[in-house]
Amino acid sequence: MAQPRFLPREQLQTLIDRLRAEHGRCIGPVAEGGAIVYREIMRATELPVGWHDRQGPGSYRLLRDEGPRCFAWANGPGALKPLLLPPEAPMWEVGRDADGRLHFTAAKARAEPLAVLGVRACDLAALDLFDRHFLREPADTDYRARREALFLVGMHCSHPATTCFCADTGDGPECQSGFDLALHELDDGFVVQAGSAAGRHLMHTLALPAASAEQCQAAHREHEAARAAQHRQLPPDLPGSLLALAEDARWQALEGRCLACGNCTAVCPTCFCHRHEERPALAADTSAHWRLWDSCFADGHSLLHGRPLRTQVAMRYRQWLTHKLDTWVAQYGRSGCVGCGRCISWCPVGIDLVSEATTLMEPPHA
Ligand code: SF4
Ligand code: SF4
Repeated sequence: MAQPRFLPREQLQTLIDRLRAEHGRCIGPVAEGGAIVYREIMRATELPVGWHDRQGPGSYRLLRDEGPRCFAWANGPGALKPLLLPPEAPMWEVGRDADGRLHFTAAKARAEPLAVLGVRACDLAALDLFDRHFLREPADTDYRARREALFLVGMHCSHPATTCFCADTGDGPECQSGFDLALHELDDGFVVQAGSAAGRHLMHTLALPAASAEQCQAAHREHEAARAAQHRQLPPDLPGSLLALAEDARWQALEGRCLACGNCTAVCPTCFCHRHEERPALAADTSAHWRLWDSCFADGHSLLHGRPLRTQVAMRYRQWLTHKLDTWVAQYGRSGCVGCGRCISWCPVGIDLVSEATTLMEPPHA
């Protein structure tokens, strides 16, 4: 990898201007509605300067101080997922041609160039999982178009929340791959690395000085501190073991606790379950076919011949946890969890997948 460079804090606006000039719109984090969320930004002053977060099971709060940093927080409820897999999107339209035959037209992929500033390591790992699913042949054309239009500026994490465990899953807190540029924020600026030809080009146009050895060491120390600050750990040997516990009575403890609200699947950066819906025109001469986010916690998600297979909420939780932490490995070559902790913070009743998996893996397994 090329020699890291240093972007002084006063030049953050220059980076945003270049991202917008070369890669269309710039999406970045802002503090809005009581959370860190991602939306289009134009000015560095829109970034969440001085904001920090406090997270725990079923809890998320923002706090502010006078510090200069814009990225001193762990992930809020979302980042990349809605940009690649919108909550709803058209897939095709069907109508009749002049001879009365049905005629299908694929929806045009609605991708526009986008730069995303401040992507965390866990979300880059989740993106890699999305790629394994959606780019597997035959690739999803809408996803591919959106994916190819992205320029990603990663941000190494220095302030993990108590809910984070990306160090345990091996996905963070440093961005490892999948970025065009990766930044580490220090008080006076950013240590910058390029991860692609497009990233090297952009870094070159910024004409940044080389980062000093002290700056690189300070960044490294913060990575190590972020790793050491994480205490959650999933039990080892989950693949193969969790599925074997399918009939374990302890799943029933979720019945009455889990609300089947689907918050966990909505915020999870690797969950991509969806349903399909027909939207006929009023004149009934055409119909549009849409894809919408769905959740394995929804009533209708397990319908088979008109009847739900998973009638109890505990069965839906079992499906989610077993797929995510066990059978996903056989399907995609790794666990479906990247340790972002979102499902823990955003569960309204504070159900914690690490604790649930740990309890289930404790003997006895009767
Ligand atoms: S299962 Fe939970 S912790 Fe794991 S990636 Fe999904 S939201 Fe993050
Ligand atoms: S585990 Fe929590 S967030 Fe997920 S469906 Fe149940 S209550 Fe909702």
